[in-house]
Amino acid sequence: MMIRLNDLYLCIQGEGCLAGTPMVLIRLHGCSVGCPFCDTKETWANDEENRVPDLHQAQADPSKWCEMEASDVAIAASEIRQGAKWALITGGEPADQDLHQLVACLNACGFLVAVETSGTATGHMGAGVHWVCVSPKLGMPGAKPVLPDVVNTANEIKMVVGKPEDVTKLEDLLERSSFKGTVCLQPMSTNPEATRFCISTCQRKGWRLSLQTHKWINER
Ligand code: SF4
Repeated sequence: MMIRLNDLYLCIQGEGCLAGTPMVLIRLHGCSVGCPFCDTKETWANDEENRVPDLHQAQADPSKWCEMEASDVAIAASEIRQGAKWALITGGEPADQDLHQLVACLNACGFLVAVETSGTATGHMGAGVHWVCVSPKLGMPGAKPVLPDVVNTANEIKMVVGKPEDVTKLEDLLERSSFKGTVCLQPMSTNPEATRFCISTCQRKGWRLSLQTHKWINER
């Protein structure tokens, strides 16, 4: 099965419950959610003019992407993993693609597999992912609903918070789901006011604070 791939590199996970964990980050290409604050907008369009023949060329420019067999993606991840036990499939919106074969290939290479999704697509469901992080993107311009069935697959919800209404939207989503995992609030773009609001809300609700710690160490 072919996978639309934007980038692949060894990193330290900076956000959420697994922060600090070495991971091979597999950034898939394509997303139609349209978040205004997205920091990977170059992954959105599956445009032919930016399609290149191989991963090496895709890695040279964030707007470029390539297609690779799932098994070859897993092999490429293995080649750079050093001691990393985890592979992180992110995007773009990775669950727009069927992830079953990619997860199986990564498992066969000995990886634990984590997925980060907006909750608007189902390509990871039933694939045997070890850690699902749903970062719900509610009311975005792409008008794609966050699906309660996807929220229920999550080990962790990581909500990006720019203003108090974002927490209200999250509470409404939690009421519509049977999610039982960990809730993390992440201040949007490390904004100080949003950070103070996230801290007080986490203290009040017993939730976790997620900071983009990879930015402190100049990681992507
Ligand atoms: S879902 Fe993620 S990749 Fe897609 S637009 Fe939103 S932040 Fe960007």
